[in-house]
Amino acid sequence: MARNTVQFQKGLSEPEFERQFGTEEQCRAAVIGSRWPEGFVCPECGGRQHSLVKTRALFQCSARRRQTSLIARTIFAATKLSLRTWFRAIHHMTQTKQGISSIELGRRRDVTQNTAWKVKPGLNRS
Ligand SMILES: [Zn+2]
Repeated sequence: MARNTVQFQKGLSEPEFERQFGTEEQCRAAVIGSRWPEGFVCPECGGRQHSLVKTRALFQCSARRRQTSLIARTIFAATKLSLRTWFRAIHHMTQTKQGISSIELGRRRDVTQNTAWKVKPGLNRS
């Protein structure tokens, strides 16, 4: 039987995951890189000049002062969880073939089941 490349792809080990995405800032950088691979671009005017406001949660366009949230219109906007919590949940959910239940996710990540349950539908929507 042919090997399924998805099934056999190498996972990210726990230590390696922590090294790459262990801090909120690292997760933030990953989202920024994914959303704006060439750096921030204002969705309104296309400008690149910007400043960061409100503890860096918002990008403010220098031309028209329009503010853009990093997580607006992404799955991460669905809850008030930190990006770090999201990334950890995603990592755990993608490390097994069968996925992971919200109860198991909560147990592993030491978060309430309610929180885990909020994260899961967010992922299923994407
Ligand atoms: Zn702009």
